Amino acid sequence: MTDLRIAIVGFGKIARDQHVGAIAATQGATLAAVASRNASLPELPHFATIEELLEKGPPIDAVSLCTPPQVRRAQAATALAAGKHVMLEKPPGTGVAELDPLIAMATDAGRTLFATWHSRYAPAVEPAREWLASRRIKSVRISWKEDVRVWHPGQAWIWEPGGLGVFDPGINALSIVTRILPSQVFVTSAELAFPANCQAPIAANLNLTDINGLPITAEFDFRQTGPQSWDILVETDQGRMTLSDGGRRMAVDGKAIADAPDQEYRRLYQRFVKLAASGTSDVDLAPLRLVADSFLLGKRTIVEPFVD
Ligand code: NAP
Repeated sequence: MTDLRIAIVGFGKIARDQHVGAIAATQGATLAAVASRNASLPELPHFATIEELLEKGPPIDAVSLCTPPQVRRAQAATALAAGKHVMLEKPPGTGVAELDPLIAMATDAGRTLFATWHSRYAPAVEPAREWLASRRIKSVRISWKEDVRVWHPGQAWIWEPGGLGVFDPGINALSIVTRILPSQVFVTSAELAFPANCQAPIAANLNLTDINGLPITAEFDFRQTGPQSWDILVETDQGRMTLSDGGRRMAVDGKAIADAPDQEYRRLYQRFVKLAASGTSDVDLAPLRLVADSFLLGKRTIVEPFVD
């Protein structure tokens, strides 16, 4: 079988930090080109836009869209119309409904649309899901607090409409919770703190539940200095499970159960290669729906302006 020839579109932090290395480490995948207005990679064909890439670039089979969410829908539609498979960074869109026509395009063309949730591929997520499957869950507490200045320096798009603000990392927690819990969950109330000069929240407190009234709380905060937290704590009838470090480590009553090196993006590309071989799509919108509902239900407060 020949390699899936992939072009990265939007060569920013995550493309550099994860995608290039993960493609290089994935059997059956080759990085063939980069399309980005400013950034490029030495020795790889470079184009400023996806249109230019498709018109003048080397032959490719797929694009991996690493641009901010506000511009990805149009790029995905352009790529699918040209017969390419599409991998979307998270979040898959700026709204939920915009995915529907993309899914239809991919299905009609027999091409893959892969809406990635990298945190679901963290090493302790599947062990946590399996462990919880046979326990009675009493409560869930999510704490996702990071320093925006450290992790998103200069990313103005995150504060614009559709940029999601603190839900940009928070949606990772929601992607894990919607994977590990055996029941479907929904938002019952939300408090969103908007900096006076921003269009997206800097902090959010959510209450969620399931059909049986399971209490779930989530605290997202972009103003965290000092120790960072990407933790989910689940009380069960057989002990307290903690999933920490963004899904990398799992413990029960303090005893380590799973702890492995991060291979999230390699696993994403392995899955993309497999999906593309059959032209199958994988688009789970559950985490994005929870974010959309948080915005629908959210009580808003205005807090001090954010200066990067
Ligand atoms: P980023 O550093 O801002 O990179 C995005 C790149 O896209 C920019 O460097 C820019 O490159 C290009 N771009 C920006 N605005 C554009 C526009 N209006 N039109 C076309 N291209 C544009 O952002 P990032 O951190 O890599 O995040 C990108 C996506 O990956 C986000 O959805 C984020 O949630 C997700 N993600 C990020 C991380 C992380 O740790 N940062 C982790 C996981 C997932 P040019 O100037 O060269 O065009």
